[in-house]
Amino acid sequence: MSTPTSDASSAPARRLLIVGPPGAGKGTQAVRIAEQLGIPAISTGDIFRANVSGQTELGVLAKSYMDKGEYVPDSVTNDMVRSRLAEDDARGGFLLDGYPRTLDQVEALDGMLSELGTGLDRVLLLVVETEEVVGRLVARGAEQGRSDDTEETIRRRLEVYAEQTAPLIDVYDARGLVRRVDGMASIDEVTAALREALAGR
Ligand code: AMP
Repeated sequence: MSTPTSDASSAPARRLLIVGPPGAGKGTQAVRIAEQLGIPAISTGDIFRANVSGQTELGVLAKSYMDKGEYVPDSVTNDMVRSRLAEDDARGGFLLDGYPRTLDQVEALDGMLSELGTGLDRVLLLVVETEEVVGRLVARGAEQGRSDDTEETIRRRLEVYAEQTAPLIDVYDARGLVRRVDGMASIDEVTAALREALAGR
């Protein structure tokens, strides 16, 4: 039997993160890319929202942070991701959307993946213009009725992203994992650019 890590250099990139500010189009692109690669798109925001809808204990807790544009505490989020990554469908790869978002989460994810005997192949970064993004999010809030898509919350979410999540990019850059893609192009163009970023080295 061959060991899965013995020839990592030729293995296709299938253990992936997609990163970018709120409204960059991460969710839309994650679903497309994951479907094309046959791996699950794992969105922590979606998991929290499902719990909010289901009025679970986790949902009640998460909502109190989400509605203010703040992050749910790392301990809660890390445990949730740990159990999701342990599910069978994530064994052959995954695309994490919206996680990790803090340096503590980066460390936690490193630990989870090393326990699973694996690591990250690539980090896809969607680069967008902030003011454009605010406009997109206000429109989404009106369409989907998302309670965290009001202008005040959006501005707070962008601040929190700049303070807590943007520094992660340096960490992954230092590991040579980050590929930058212009997130202002059309949805199809962004998907194509992301596929290219996954194909190249
Ligand atoms: P998203 O759909 O990814 O924009 O996430 C919506 C909200 O869920 C965020 O504003 C946070 O309140 C919460 N959330 C999602 N992912 C995380 C995470 N990795 N860490 C902490 N909070 C998160």
